[in-house]
Amino acid sequence: MAPEAGDKSGAAARLYCGMGNHFLKTPSTIIRDPKMLRFARYINTELRYDTKICLNCFKILGQLYKFKAVEDHSVGS
Ligand SMILES: [Zn+2]
Repeated sequence: MAPEAGDKSGAAARLYCGMGNHFLKTPSTIIRDPKMLRFARYINTELRYDTKICLNCFKILGQLYKFKAVEDHSVGS
């Protein structure tokens, strides 16, 4: 019996984005900045360092993160 070759690619295409309840869109990326990852966990507690997210979601997250960083800085002074 030959293993089912078609299964793998189908499963890979149906990954969920780490930033929401939608399927991962290409291009995708991972969050490499540990501080940004920690910030992202406020949005999704299930998020891991190797969880893929859409590049588009990554850009939005980056904007939120920068906004939050500025806010934190002004509170701290
Ligand atoms: Zn996404």
